[in-house]
Amino acid sequence: MSIKSNIDYVNELKAQAAEKSGRKADDVLLVAVTKLHTPAEINEAIDAGITDIGENKVQEIMDKYDAVKPVRWHLIGHLQTNKVKYIIDKVCMIHSVDSFHLAKEINKRAAQHDLTMDILIQVNSAMDENKFGITTDETDELIRQISEECPNIRIRGLMCIAPFEENVEDARPYFAAVKKIYDRYADRKTDRVDFRYLSMGMTHDFQVAVEEGSNLIRVGTAIFGYRDYRKEEK
Ligand SMILES: *Cc1c(COP(=O)(O)O)cnc(C)c1O
Repeated sequence: MSIKSNIDYVNELKAQAAEKSGRKADDVLLVAVTKLHTPAEINEAIDAGITDIGENKVQEIMDKYDAVKPVRWHLIGHLQTNKVKYIIDKVCMIHSVDSFHLAKEINKRAAQHDLTMDILIQVNSAMDENKFGITTDETDELIRQISEECPNIRIRGLMCIAPFEENVEDARPYFAAVKKIYDRYADRKTDRVDFRYLSMGMTHDFQVAVEEGSNLIRVGTAIFGYRDYRKEEK
């Protein structure tokens, strides 16, 4: 299967899931996750219509940035405070903000570049100890703190990585819990809190995530095939 036909297939499934939840295919943004894939593969995806790509490591963004055609870059993985400075002028949105400490650093670097950075708050609704993110109970407080003290940040919504469930139906409650918080902010728009994105769903579970209300899916394997993690050791 080519990258193009994989993208077409993901888009088809995305459209079906959107329809099931009373929305249009275009209401759900597909972010192609390109970690461990080469600039050549990424450019092929861009030629096939991909407008947004996601990387989970700062180093990979730095390494590939100049070799990839113009596209919107998303930082979707855990971000260390000392690395914010490398990507602040490269990405359009940071999906993985889970502490005020990290938000303050993003705010500081954004101010230095005279820009406003869009972020999502990462919510760990399953309270999975192996994952980053804050609990559903902590979400309101973190949003309040960031919106009061970080003028160079605009909070655009929430992100969630559900635990890997053998039966993907079992992931629904985790997505639904985050959607519930998301909905509470829908009519509370300010300059700094302007919800637009609910980032939920990966290769294994994106159809269920969209049915539960996700409007941004992060899909890697279904587009590019399996990743060769041995590459990381180089
Ligand atoms: C790798 C990754 C994805 C994509 O995973 P696939 O299963 O390959 O679709 C999505 N989100 C995050 C945060 C990731 O690190």
